Amino acid sequence: MSIAPSNNDALAQHLAHSGLRATPQREIVYQVLLERRDHPTADELFARVKAKMPTISLATVYNCLEALVQCDLVKQVNFEREPTRYCSNLTEHAHFIDTATGQIIDIEMTPAYVARLREALPPGFTMEDVELNFRGAAAPSALKIPATAAQTGPIPA
Ligand SMILES: [Zn+2]
Repeated sequence: MSIAPSNNDALAQHLAHSGLRATPQREIVYQVLLERRDHPTADELFARVKAKMPTISLATVYNCLEALVQCDLVKQVNFEREPTRYCSNLTEHAHFIDTATGQIIDIEMTPAYVARLREALPPGFTMEDVELNFRGAAAPSALKIPATAAQTGPIPA
């Protein structure tokens, strides 16, 4: 169970900033979230973490997720009536849910696009955060992008 030192350092720094300590459990939960960025639920994540750390409990995984959300390393993703999912992509992005497969894909939101959204607000309204979810279908050919590319750059058209 090794984790790239840079990830560990970033994790420790973020946790410390929120007054939290880095623990082996928090490290492994974060590592597993980074490994497959497919927006898992807590239950899905628990199964993956348990494969690496058999003694961990679901309650601990929830606690770790809470800490990671609190220190802004992980975002909660909520689609109505579905369990909360977790996203470790910290760039500004929207989510696209493929209603046929349930797959959730990150859609990059450029600063210009976010600025356009801000323009939609009436005078006197300030936007702290925006969550944008798309629902629809993605052609199989459009999904042939490596998981990491979907995280680090725009989705090819
Ligand atoms: Zn995401």
